[in-house]
Amino acid sequence: MSAILSRFGRRQVLGFPLAAAMTQFSASNCAGRVSADPKSDDDKSLADADLVTLFVCGDVMTGRAIDQVLPQPGNPRICERYATSAEAYVDLAEKAHGPIARPVGFAYIWGDALPELRTRMPDLRIINLETSVTTSEACTNRGISYRMSPDNVPCLTAAGVDCCVLANNHVLDWGRAGLLETLDTLESAKIKTAGAGRDIAEAAAPAILTIPGKGRVLVFAFGLPTSGIPGDWAASPGRSGVNFLNDLSPAVIKLLAERIGALRQPRDIVVVSIHWGPNWGYEIPKRQVDFAHGLIDEAGVDVIHGHSSHHAKAIEVYRDRPILYGCGDFLNDYEGITGYEGFRDDLAAMYFLTIEASRGKLAGLTIVPFQIRNFRLNRASPADATWLSNILAREGVSFGTGIRLNSDKTMDVIWR
Ligand SMILES: [Zn+2]
Repeated sequence: MSAILSRFGRRQVLGFPLAAAMTQFSASNCAGRVSADPKSDDDKSLADADLVTLFVCGDVMTGRAIDQVLPQPGNPRICERYATSAEAYVDLAEKAHGPIARPVGFAYIWGDALPELRTRMPDLRIINLETSVTTSEACTNRGISYRMSPDNVPCLTAAGVDCCVLANNHVLDWGRAGLLETLDTLESAKIKTAGAGRDIAEAAAPAILTIPGKGRVLVFAFGLPTSGIPGDWAASPGRSGVNFLNDLSPAVIKLLAERIGALRQPRDIVVVSIHWGPNWGYEIPKRQVDFAHGLIDEAGVDVIHGHSSHHAKAIEVYRDRPILYGCGDFLNDYEGITGYEGFRDDLAAMYFLTIEASRGKLAGLTIVPFQIRNFRLNRASPADATWLSNILAREGVSFGTGIRLNSDKTMDVIWR
């Protein structure tokens, strides 16, 4: 953090978009006014120690065609109606955007995101891993089958991923054997997991991440049937699977509040990561809003990390807690696939959340936009960054959030 502070100055690091805030909201209501600039060096280090920065993103799909271009590809066989080999998706991407020099290095896929991580130095990096990591041949024939070879797991450690959320509709694409190998592989790579497990106790347990000198972050993860997770993927006392939520009812909020309350300690930051809703569309159902608010009100959750949509959706800041309703895809092998171009699922976003650990309050939220090209993250063009910022601003209107597009084409979220 200190290096970032020295480079950019405190206000910009925290995403304090004061100028923009003045244009849209009264400065006195803007959380960016956390301009309690420390009065002494001691105060400043105390304040810095209280700030935790999380990098989160949506779906990271490193299987199928991406697996084939990485250094240790697995069996390209897939169980899909229109293709029997993952190579078909490499061909599609190369036809659309030119050849990919194979094999790429393990770090290749992260592209311009890596210098961004080096510069911003988030305390933790949390992704939704939208693939099974396995050599299992037991595909479940659901039409799509994502898997990455366990030998390619260095592509995750290359970006310093701390936690993979697994409560999604692809982690069991290659059966329960595939899930078990995924869990073993990530454990061996020292990457924590949440949202799936060898039984319900493990699937429901949070990933507990400790930041030296700062405290703990607890990541609870759930998957909903609305994201396409079959009911029989649910973990149970005697069966591996996903931490499956049937619905978003008040009764579920109450249950989760009890579970979270039993595990959280003072100063813990609690993240709830949820795979919910369809792949396309900007609508946020009222039940999702009520559920997110309920988790914040009744369970004291500090961050709602939503995903499943292939494109970024609205952001809300409720009682100074961020709700990312849909983070969008971050990495995928969809280049050359047509049909939903209007949603621009080629655009990806890094979300950097800065949180005051002592109060659980959001201090800043900065988004860095990218474009997926040749299975690699490239900084978005100024035109694409502007397009994405306009979409997020449009979708934020009903939630009271604004977007300030900075000169470097990053975005700061502004809230009331
Ligand atoms: Zn999904």
